[in-house]
Amino acid sequence: MLSAEARTKLREDTYAAYQQYVNGGLAALLKFMGLDVVEDHAQGALVWDVDGNEYLDCLGGYGALSLGHRHPAVVAAVQEQLGRMPMPAKIMLSRPLAEAARMLAEITPGDLQCSFWCNSGAEAVEGALKLARLATGRTRVVAALNAFHGKTMGGLSASGREVFKAPFLPLVPEFSHVPFGDAAALERMVDEQTAAVILEPIQGEAGVIVPPAGYLARARETCDRVGALLIVDEVQTGLGRTGRLFACEWEGVAPDIMTLAKALGGGVLPVGAFIATPKVWEVMLPNPLLHSSTFGGNPLACSAALAAMRAVQEEKLPQRAAELGAYVLGQLQEMAGRHPGTIAEVRGRGLLIGVRFEHEDIAGLVIAGLVQRGILAAYTLNNPTVLRLEPPLVITREQLDRVLIALEEAVAQTAALLGG
Ligand code: PLP
Repeated sequence: MLSAEARTKLREDTYAAYQQYVNGGLAALLKFMGLDVVEDHAQGALVWDVDGNEYLDCLGGYGALSLGHRHPAVVAAVQEQLGRMPMPAKIMLSRPLAEAARMLAEITPGDLQCSFWCNSGAEAVEGALKLARLATGRTRVVAALNAFHGKTMGGLSASGREVFKAPFLPLVPEFSHVPFGDAAALERMVDEQTAAVILEPIQGEAGVIVPPAGYLARARETCDRVGALLIVDEVQTGLGRTGRLFACEWEGVAPDIMTLAKALGGGVLPVGAFIATPKVWEVMLPNPLLHSSTFGGNPLACSAALAAMRAVQEEKLPQRAAELGAYVLGQLQEMAGRHPGTIAEVRGRGLLIGVRFEHEDIAGLVIAGLVQRGILAAYTLNNPTVLRLEPPLVITREQLDRVLIALEEAVAQTAALLGG
């Protein structure tokens, strides 16, 4: 390890570079949260900074780290591909792309079959929206209030938090929003001019909102009645996070188009994709370059995705998420009972869990308290009253117990601070 002096210099220099060359606001925010430390290495659910301090990762890279940091099978697959051909020539067939696309078709519900591969969730959403327009010849899109679909112009238009949208108006036209979970409101908004309804099966960034049972199935019926397409955004919920391989499977619903990213890269590389039924995809055939991406579907990314999809299934991570999630949720509900007036509600499914506090200041202080205790955590992007617990699915029960103990201490400390 570096000397104490060298480590201090490294920390200060990195912070100064953030201030000058990255974003001073972000540097200040991290400092405020006690996270102006420099990450160094990671394994599984653990992260170490350059000073050798250990952190338990309960944010999981906003859900990208379902397989944990440096999953050995994904790292090995990427290393193998790195030694062979990381980037494509672009005008030949790519074996990793073919294999990843075939496996995605095999594991996704319904007759989702043809996919386009990209580099992020927002790009997957953009592609899905474009495909819906193309396939239907319609332009209207219905989305949910408080939804999060990424921060590109199309994704932002589908999203539902004004603070992120207002500075960039006008966005893409003809998007409308209805309350999430209200099937009747959706029915009223969707008509013969609607190209698509885009929904997260469980809203993540809105504060982890699980809709009433039957909601997604009703959305499916609503779309079918008028010939609109159902886009299910599984960027955050996909690949085991909620206790099923895909969260729409909880309702037995198969969408026309599904978007994926985050966990698809196995926690090693950025990978996104949207996949659609052959019927919807037909419009992409006459001009296969109508939608394209230089880096999308590159062999390195696809080797990571392929290894990730295999590992999620081989290690039965959806089942693990369901079991560990039920345990944590039960423990948190008891904790909420011990802290009325501080914890307002606990909700979620699998290892996508939200703890809603009575006020956003309480959430901020609790998160800071967790960080002080070596737990990495954050709030949901569209709802700062909610602490998200979204650890790698490979986390152990003992590690989760450490999180629960630290959380209760942080909650008690915050309540005492604000009460006193
Ligand atoms: N869709 C959903 C449901 C998400 O949760 C996110 C990110 O949190 C996105 C899209 C955007 O993904 P990315 O940040 O990779 O662009």
